[in-house]
Amino acid sequence: MSDQLRDWDNQHVWHPFTPMSAYRDEQAPIISSAEGFHVFDTEGNRYLDGISALWCNVHGYQVPEIDQAISLQLQKVGHTTLLGMSTPTAIELARELVSITPAGLNHVFYSDAGATAVEAALKMVIQYHAQTSPHAPPRTKFVRMAEAYHGDTFGSISVGRVESFHKPFSDLLFDTISVPCPVAYRVPAGYDRESWLQACFDTVDRTFAEHHERIAAFVIEPIVQGAAGILVHAPGYLQHVRNVTAQYNIPLIADEVAVGFGKTGTLFACEQEHVLPDLLCLAKGITGGYLPLAATLATSEIHNAFLGAPAEGKTFYHGHTYTGNALGCAAALANLELIHKNNSVENARQIEEQIHSDFSTLRAHAHVGEIRQKGVMTGIELVLDREQKTPYPTSRRIGHEVTLACRKRGFIIRPLGNVIVLMPAIAMPLNLIRQLTAAVCEAIEEICGN
Ligand SMILES: *Cc1c(COP(=O)(O)O)cnc(C)c1O
Repeated sequence: MSDQLRDWDNQHVWHPFTPMSAYRDEQAPIISSAEGFHVFDTEGNRYLDGISALWCNVHGYQVPEIDQAISLQLQKVGHTTLLGMSTPTAIELARELVSITPAGLNHVFYSDAGATAVEAALKMVIQYHAQTSPHAPPRTKFVRMAEAYHGDTFGSISVGRVESFHKPFSDLLFDTISVPCPVAYRVPAGYDRESWLQACFDTVDRTFAEHHERIAAFVIEPIVQGAAGILVHAPGYLQHVRNVTAQYNIPLIADEVAVGFGKTGTLFACEQEHVLPDLLCLAKGITGGYLPLAATLATSEIHNAFLGAPAEGKTFYHGHTYTGNALGCAAALANLELIHKNNSVENARQIEEQIHSDFSTLRAHAHVGEIRQKGVMTGIELVLDREQKTPYPTSRRIGHEVTLACRKRGFIIRPLGNVIVLMPAIAMPLNLIRQLTAAVCEAIEEICGN
């Protein structure tokens, strides 16, 4: 049975972000069920999920409250449309999102993925500027972080850019202004840690002083850049970006697709620096990892620029068929209730401490360059040489090797290049976290040596 499935998988399924020829030789697990924080494959193996189903699972699998919310909704209606109509669940969830997110975000635009949430935000600001300043030169330049990741559609890769992923498309991407990440594991020649971080802050001021007339918005993953390798920004940076953007009256787009819903130890990352963004993108954890749903929240200032008689043409002509899917909204409501009831965000902070103490020995390992942490978001950067911070060559696929060594032990993780990533569900109990960290230490020793 599972051999047959594997054959069909190899023949017909094109897996995302997966080198398919290598995949065929790897006997990757085919997950057929899940319970608690474990998943089970067709061969009967059990794995602890160390990456929360790619950063979206919140309370584990087969969560009775979420299961029930979805099945109750299913007895009413699975999906209709939000184009010119509404549903009770979409309305209730919008109210809930407005009440729990940073103040001022009063309007919820639904879609179905992180990339579409970002795409909507980008188009909203462009159209907002066009409609509020019709006679000014167009504001079309986005400022974005170096190494940013915001999804895989054309707009979101334009404000992202990973050289190796985006090369074939480079002619088709719009121009952006990139500012350096305020992180200091490696600093450019001529700087020390302090002066480099200061230079990162100063670049924001300089960029806006120079280009503010053409800037549409600043797009940022607040506090932690996840897919860039769990880069934890220097304290105060987000606040600084907010101050500078506010000074020039330029919208700030916070992409909390990865960091939202408790992962950094607060419900939303922006809270950590008391920042109120103009647009907020949410996806991944919104349904507890059950169903595809996303939301772009906007201030009234932005939303109201789209009002007017239909003939004025100010409408936001953008949307997706499954926008605001009722099952997804029902799952999201149950997820949020559980986060609140179980104090899951507090658990995320305890996970951070647990992982920190479990890795006290690993931190000194000859091939561990740096361990970066914020809440449950954890990145272990493996290096060939600790003193020189020399990266392992890409061809060595060292992160992937460690992943396979973990899998053999019954743990699922997924690296970002040479960075081993742990992203447990924020509700995972600490005894399971200890099993996960022990397995990761063993796997790193097996692959990199002692
Ligand atoms: C995952 C991610 C996205 C894209 O979300 P999808 O649902 O995969 O489209 C966008 N932004 C950030 C910060 C992410 O981590």
